[in-house]
Amino acid sequence: MASRRQFLLGSTALASSVLAGAWRPVTAALAPEEPFLPADFTAAVPDLDPERIMRRLVGLRPFRPMGVRLELEAIGRTTLIHHYGHGGSGVTLSWGTAQQAVDLALAVPGRGAIAVLGAGAVGLATAWLLRERGQQVRVYAENFSPATTSDVAAARWFPSQLLDAEFRTPERETSLREALLFSHQRFRRLIGKGYGVGLLPHIRLGLQPPSPGWADTLLTDLIPPPEDVSDRNLPFQAPYVGAVPGMLIDMPLYLRAIQRDLRSMGVAFLQRRFRSPGEIAALPESVVVNCTGLGSATLFGASELVPIKGQLTMLPPDPRLRYTLSAGSLYLHPRSEGILLGGTYAHGDATTSFNAEAEQRILAGFAELYGLPPPGPRSTTSPSIT
Ligand SMILES: Cc1cc2nc3c(=O)[nH]c(=O)nc-3n(C[C@H](O)[C@H](O)[C@H](O)COP(=O)(O)OP(=O)(O)OC[C@H]3O[C@@H](n4cnc5c(N)ncnc54)[C@H](O)[C@@H]3O)c2cc1C
Repeated sequence: MASRRQFLLGSTALASSVLAGAWRPVTAALAPEEPFLPADFTAAVPDLDPERIMRRLVGLRPFRPMGVRLELEAIGRTTLIHHYGHGGSGVTLSWGTAQQAVDLALAVPGRGAIAVLGAGAVGLATAWLLRERGQQVRVYAENFSPATTSDVAAARWFPSQLLDAEFRTPERETSLREALLFSHQRFRRLIGKGYGVGLLPHIRLGLQPPSPGWADTLLTDLIPPPEDVSDRNLPFQAPYVGAVPGMLIDMPLYLRAIQRDLRSMGVAFLQRRFRSPGEIAALPESVVVNCTGLGSATLFGASELVPIKGQLTMLPPDPRLRYTLSAGSLYLHPRSEGILLGGTYAHGDATTSFNAEAEQRILAGFAELYGLPPPGPRSTTSPSIT
């Protein structure tokens, strides 16, 4: 196994692309009294053999350069509340922006029952908070879990690909900070209660300790400084190894549980694809919250929406692997159904085909980070692509 020093000196193009990439040094914090990295913490090494790949997933993050759209629009006598454009943070932000959308909906005078369009993380959180505040709610969607983009999300709780730098205004920052705080509190309530939400240490590898980025400033109240654990006996071939508390949401479990609860709270789910705003105006509800994610591009002509394609490679689950990991753009998240390896962000790519070269690059990157031999040739059999 190569030493950390050798890794640094032998800094290959791969190493620099893996480690020197932009950091997203943000994660969910624990209350200070909760230990997140026991003194005897050992990081299990995944088996990266490509023959073990179980599944491949592709999803399109609904990125909006100016950030989430939270805005009223009148369509005839219907009041539409737009609530879409969460980029790479739709799970992380979902409860927080849902709260903001619900405030807008409840300020509409003379409303009756409220419709929510979309059953991804954003639509379900919106429906929940509306119901919690005493509203009759119907959820309409073309696809439900497990067929939404939200099911694909690797979903560590942290904000990423929120909006372009030129749109960072003090007002947006305040609104995002509030949304993140609210969302974090909501997810924390679900920990250990069968919703697939759990606390896991997050390990960050780099050439040096990361300097705080913009996203960190949004979460100053939630994130403790990273703990430098480079001198611990951990299996990573990186000069810097940091650890922070983290929260992981197992999306298929989470979405199923939330949908089940909503049903028992009296929320109706209707399968339906909308092709025009006119069809929405014809609904019996006069207030409609639009949580259609990337679907808003065609449904409402939201041409500002940019898909950011991402793909995940799933290896069999390993109960010993109890941490999340990131190194530059690469990340590893253990889910109950398998270990997810990711690290692709293709701006403007709306295709849903799987990129085999990117997968090889990611596997090779992880092999290098763990000091393992490069993975062998790809299997000729093709696991399912979702
Ligand atoms: C590889 C990858 C990794 C990711 N990792 C993370 C992460 O770690 N953390 C994080 O927070 N986020 C992550 N994301 C981003 C996250 O998945 C999205 O931000 C989130 O899923 C957006 O949720 P949504 O509810 O707005 O959209 P969706 O989940 O796409 O839901 C949209 C809903 O609207 C419905 N709909 C759309 N159009 C119509 C129509 N015309 N008529 C009727 N219904 C319609 C759909 O059927 C669906 O029910 C990741 C995404 C990818 C691809």
